[in-house]
Formats: sequence, structure tokens, C-alpha cells
Amino acid sequence: MSKILFADANSDYNTASYVICGVPYDGTSCFRKGSIFAPEEMRKVSYNFETYNHFFGINFKDISIHDFGDLEVAEDIDTTLEMISGHADTFVSDGKIPVMMGGEHSLTLPFARACKKKYPDLGFVVLDAHLDLREEYQGRNNSHACISRHVIDEVTDKYASIGIRSGGQDEYEYASENRIKVFSAEDVFNSGIENIIKEIRKVIKGHVYLSIDIDAIDPAFAPAVGTPEPYGITPRDAREVIAAFAPDIVGFDLVEITPAYDSGNTAVLGAKLVRDFIAANAKARL
Ligand code: MN
Ligand code: MN
Repeated sequence: MSKILFADANSDYNTASYVICGVPYDGTSCFRKGSIFAPEEMRKVSYNFETYNHFFGINFKDISIHDFGDLEVAEDIDTTLEMISGHADTFVSDGKIPVMMGGEHSLTLPFARACKKKYPDLGFVVLDAHLDLREEYQGRNNSHACISRHVIDEVTDKYASIGIRSGGQDEYEYASENRIKVFSAEDVFNSGIENIIKEIRKVIKGHVYLSIDIDAIDPAFAPAVGTPEPYGITPRDAREVIAAFAPDIVGFDLVEITPAYDSGNTAVLGAKLVRDFIAANAKARL
């Protein structure tokens, strides 16, 4: 259990609408490790922000948020996923909106699965630099490089990714053969995020799980990530996606921040995106 709670997470579990949890696990991360430190770092910097969110026009004192602390993890990914899936299922079946702070991207799967059980029409939107469509990577099929493949195969085919600019040739071929909705960072730059959102809205109309792999955002804004990839989208693009889908989002995560490579700004951006999601979602539910 982390000692610092996320700012404005002043509710107990029973009365909370939002349950924040950290999952300090980075066992399959291949390049820069250290996302295990991200939940604590995001909690620390969350105190930077005002309780009033002017952009979404809502005060956090009017939102019921509980910080569950960090979930227990094991050394290997498969055991870790089993351990956290019980919590994910409980949060969602208790009617909470889970807000998971990774840790690495593979941790998304149990949370997306839990939401699909409760909301059968679930769609999945992910911001990422990487396709993450591999069937396995470095001998593990629950690697962080496989998360989107798992979601499409096992959770929902109502899927769209935004900000993509990296993948193996086989992944790109798989995406085009299976007509997977992949919107590159260049698509966002050329068409504008509003038009990308409109395209996605044609296929994803019901409940939504939103997963933000922070490396979707350009390394100029978010340098401290596990696998940095230049030519990314902007923080404003990410906020637009949050704002557009907020009314329908039933689960959210923010993953892949590696604080050791940070001046502090990546964790600040991560904490802000978490707060903007909660603010936007709560405003839509008023
Ligand atoms: Mn990813
Ligand atoms: Mn990525």
C-alpha cells in the first residue's frame, strides 16, 4: 500500500465512483525499465493541480474518488495478471470505474476483460506509438508488445488505436489483412484529431475502455517512457480523445511512464491525463 494517496481521492471504497489503483509491474519491459515507480510518482505530482478543473468545469471536491493503493504483483507476468484480475473484476462488478496506473501495458488486459464482462457492447480505444499486435514477444505471449492483439482476440473487435508509428512488418500486415482500425500519428497530424474521432465513432458507439500508453505522445512532451518513438501526437490530442469518449468510458488506464528518465514532466502529464479523464467523465455523468 502506497503511503501517498492520489490528490482529491478522499472517498472510501463504498461511496466512490472512481477507484484509482497502481500496478507497479514492469517485468516484460524490454528497453527502459522502471515503470514500477510510476504510480507513486504520479500520486506525488498530482498535488501540483488545483482541485477545480476549469477546462471541464468541475470541482474535484464534488467527485467521489478512492485510491485503493498499489495492487500486489508477482515476479512473472502470468501470475501478476491472475492476481490483479480479481481486483479488476471486483471494482467493475461493484459499479466502480477503474482508473489503473501502470506499470507496463500488459496490465491493461484484466481491466478490459472485467469491463467486457459487465458491458458486453464494450469497445476499446488505445493511444500508443506501437501496434502491440504481436502474438508473442521474447518468448512471452503476455508481453507489453502484445496487448492490442490480446484485446482484439479475446476482448472485443470494436477496436481502434491512435498515434501509431511503430511496429514490425508482420504486425502492419496483420493490421491491414484484418482491417484493424489503426490511426497513425501522421493521420492525426494531417486530418486533425476531431476527424479521427469521428471515424472511430462510426464503429465504436457503446461503452468504451480507454487505454493510454503514454508513448503515444511525442517524446518532446513525454520523454520518460519505456520505448520512446519520435513524431508523436500532442497532449492536446490526448485530451480531445478523453473529452470525446468520456461519457461512454467505463474503464481507464495510463501506462508505461518510467520516472528515472524524467525531469518530472512526464509524470505530471500522466497525472493530468488521469485527472482530466475523471473530470470529463464525472462532468458527463452529472
Ligand atoms: Mn503499448
Ligand atoms: Mn507503446
